[in-house]
Amino acid sequence: MPIWNKGQNLMSDSIAIIGAGPAGCMTACNLDKSFDTTLFDKNSPLKTLLPTGGGKCNLAHKEFDFKELAKNYPRGEKFLYSIFSKFSTQDTLDFFEQIGVKTYTREDNRIFPISNSSKEVREKLLAKLHNCKFRKEEITLIKPISNGFEVKSDKATYLFDKVVIATGGKCNYSIIKNLGHTIEKPCPSLVGLKTNPYFKGIQGVTLKNCKITANKKTYFGDILFTDNGITGPIIFEISSINAKNKFPYKININFLNTDINFQKEFEKNAKKDLKNVLYEYLPKSFINEFFKTKSINLNEKCYNIKKETRETIKDTLTNFEFEITGTRPDGETVTCGGVKLMEINPQTLESKIVRGLYFCGEVLDIDGFCGGFNLQNCWSTGYIAANSINNL
Ligand SMILES: Cc1cc2nc3c(=O)[nH]c(=O)nc-3n(C[C@H](O)[C@H](O)[C@H](O)COP(=O)(O)OP(=O)(O)OC[C@H]3O[C@@H](n4cnc5c(N)ncnc54)[C@H](O)[C@@H]3O)c2cc1C
Repeated sequence: MPIWNKGQNLMSDSIAIIGAGPAGCMTACNLDKSFDTTLFDKNSPLKTLLPTGGGKCNLAHKEFDFKELAKNYPRGEKFLYSIFSKFSTQDTLDFFEQIGVKTYTREDNRIFPISNSSKEVREKLLAKLHNCKFRKEEITLIKPISNGFEVKSDKATYLFDKVVIATGGKCNYSIIKNLGHTIEKPCPSLVGLKTNPYFKGIQGVTLKNCKITANKKTYFGDILFTDNGITGPIIFEISSINAKNKFPYKININFLNTDINFQKEFEKNAKKDLKNVLYEYLPKSFINEFFKTKSINLNEKCYNIKKETRETIKDTLTNFEFEITGTRPDGETVTCGGVKLMEINPQTLESKIVRGLYFCGEVLDIDGFCGGFNLQNCWSTGYIAANSINNL
């Protein structure tokens, strides 16, 4: 394999950025143009930006207080303080405005490009990268040598002065472990959950504003039944907060979004069939499916319902226990885990173990909730890594 000499321009420092996702590209956009920068990715640059926000790219969240912003990261909150104090939501909006992406804020505080197009954001970012070389190669080894790094790809070997690792949460971590770094065990976050029992028969049914209790914390939101579990934004949040929990763990759901006194309700509707009373509160398909296994006759007249049956109905609808047995690959599927934050300087994002080595984006043990927080992590850490190299 040929060894390429460090950069073409021997007067300037050569920088390798491994990974051309949002974080790596943000670093490349902000590195001083005098550097000899090469961006490596085994795929096309910014391919991972395309599906974000369902193709609309939820690029930030309307939260301008950096400490409040950091609260949206179950992993990384404290580490992000100094990073967000230097580059936060307003800086992100200014940056995108500068490269020609105008944004708007939705009612739920999520920020999108006015074009509602992740393709546009990608094109504008790529246009900003014209001073940097791109190589579509997979990096297999990064080795510190005197005054720099040997970087091996599937095609060649290179020498660089500095390396920025931005390989995201779905990468081959052994390259990073070989550099002496510890990896917090990666696991999926912001995903749907597999449940026991599951209700395939009501796949596609949504229940509004349920009350969910998981590990003593209460959540409110809509749930969507899937072939083997449940999903939806509130389930993504639960998956994120409990990402490090061992399976199975338990959650309880109150499917009724209003308080019902069942005794009074059945007395009031004494001559009606039980099913017709329950259908007033929840979808038919849901009621039929949920009471299938409970040996409750839904055609029973309400006046005939005994206390024990009434308690079972109440318990089923207001305190249903699911065992969470695993995760589903829907949602944003970000990675909880990654490069241990104690080994990284939060002021510069330089490794405390290897000088001249930097990290940014989801490869770090940082992950946020849905709403633009994960891309914000990429813009902020990508900027700080570039800025620290610029200021050396
Ligand atoms: C469906 C979906 C929707 C999402 N929507 C949103 C959203 O709307 N808002 C939001 O904030 N977040 C969203 N996210 C999360 C967000 O996309 C990620 O957090 C973000 O892409 C992480 O960026 P990154 O640059 O750190 O890593 P990545 O985007 O994963 O990029 C890493 C890059 O490194 C490359 N790479 C890895 N290893 C190597 C190697 N050895 N050699 C060469 N190249 C390598 C990969 O090919 C990849 O291109 C979404 C995620 C998904 C999956």
